[in-house]
Amino acid sequence: MMARNLTLCLACFHGAFAIVGATFGFVSSASAQSIQLGMPIACELGRTCYIQNYVDADPSPSAKDYKCGTLTYDAHNGTDFRVPSLQAQQAGVEVLAAANGRVLRTRDGAPDGLFRKSAREAVRDVECGNGVVVEHAEHWETQYCHMASGSLQVKSGDVVKVGQPLGRVGLSGLTEYPHLHFTVRHGNVVVDPFAYGAAPGSCGGGELLWDPSLRAQLAYQERTILNAGFTSRPVTMDLIEDGKADKELLSADAPAIVAFVRAIGLKAGDVQWLSVRDPAGHVIAENRAAPLERDKAQTMLFAGRKRPASGWEKGNYKATYSVERDGQVVLKRDLETTL
Ligand SMILES: [Zn+2]
Repeated sequence: MMARNLTLCLACFHGAFAIVGATFGFVSSASAQSIQLGMPIACELGRTCYIQNYVDADPSPSAKDYKCGTLTYDAHNGTDFRVPSLQAQQAGVEVLAAANGRVLRTRDGAPDGLFRKSAREAVRDVECGNGVVVEHAEHWETQYCHMASGSLQVKSGDVVKVGQPLGRVGLSGLTEYPHLHFTVRHGNVVVDPFAYGAAPGSCGGGELLWDPSLRAQLAYQERTILNAGFTSRPVTMDLIEDGKADKELLSADAPAIVAFVRAIGLKAGDVQWLSVRDPAGHVIAENRAAPLERDKAQTMLFAGRKRPASGWEKGNYKATYSVERDGQVVLKRDLETTL
């Protein structure tokens, strides 16, 4: 099952956390117009975190990311760096200052997970949850949202250096999965750090504001595998989100062998396929899904088989996941586990 509001995290600050206009003249190596950003989160993109959403570059009620792709939703004003599971979040992922600056304001003490447990009303006016706003030279600002309750390590007025920990990724405010919502503003106007100054609808124009050393890591991925592995029981989106499904070691008496994949960014018309093979290479389970009817923020596929009466053969079990579009493989992953 897919969470209905999956893409939600935060639109803007409200109320007591309103924007204050003051700025300071920091000495910076950045040019007068642009800022150079470091990673705002201590993770490796594509391995320990993933971009779920970009800034909505489409001013209409529909939504497009800076490549005119689907990785955003209407009026989304930042970049969402998602960690793959609650277990990964609970292990601790630091939120980092993306550039030198000074802390303008903070909020802490908003509970983690309130939006998942109750409803949107519970996080009204605190959509950002626990957050930090840092001001930088030349009227630039960065904002960090949904941080873990009690994790903030800075206070208003603190001078911070690029890469300095501000706190940890959490689940506070308007979010139902752990991630950092990161907003960049210049002169109080929201800027997409992947496409600064791009003409609306340019599908890839504008300036990257990221440090050049990060640009390969930050290359646009239309589709991404968030989790993949084997488990011995029926898999659910909640089990994957908890992080327990990925970590299971299969044993010879496992009641079932199930391979699973959760992916983000799949498009209408994509066809997913997952097959599982025993140590002799025979296919023991297969799942070829119907073409997706619409774009999906996240989707899950699994294929598995119950333990045969004779038990499991020892050896390597392999699975292959692929996504095809117009006859071309556009995403693929091979998995392996040993009994
Ligand atoms: Zn967001």
